[in-house]
Amino acid sequence: MVNKCEQHRKLALAIRLIKRNLRTSIVAVHTNVSATQLRTLYHEIHGHASVSGMFPESDRLFTTHQRALEASIILTAYLNCAGADALRRIDIEALLRAHDFYMDVRRECTGLTQSAIDLTMAWILARDLRSCVVDLRTCPCGIRFAVHEQQRIQPHCPVCGLPPLSTGKAPTHSFPLPVPVPADLGTPTTDRFC
Ligand SMILES: [Zn+2]
Repeated sequence: MVNKCEQHRKLALAIRLIKRNLRTSIVAVHTNVSATQLRTLYHEIHGHASVSGMFPESDRLFTTHQRALEASIILTAYLNCAGADALRRIDIEALLRAHDFYMDVRRECTGLTQSAIDLTMAWILARDLRSCVVDLRTCPCGIRFAVHEQQRIQPHCPVCGLPPLSTGKAPTHSFPLPVPVPADLGTPTTDRFC
């Protein structure tokens, strides 16, 4: 039997995720809160019903270099937060921190015409990273950037423009796994992402 503290913790997490507009079907996976209760919470928080239906595909982010760069920022930050766990499960707390970091970076940028990548799409990216649909390739300059297995644009480094060191379709990830950063180390910094 799940104790009351755990129930409260899961419900608090569900509210945090719904406030960030994460699809309720995904929230259910990470909290075990019932679909009915999540739909009610969503309506109370946002004043309208949650989005339902098929998830968008992550390859839509890999049609322009700017969007691919934004996906790279999210996934690099996520990998730094979650470490090797990122390849075994979706670490929702690490994903929240990575998305926060991405939103902070985006606020510093000017001239962006498209809306920000939302938390649902960030979750889809994390899922596709785990299943090797998306990989993080390493440029000779040391930058890591995301490559989708079905992207139509030529993959190249967003900093120096070189192609990645590994360009073939690899069945496993080509990036070195980082050491996860403990959650109690406080606020994200631009030095280590999290
Ligand atoms: Zn480079």
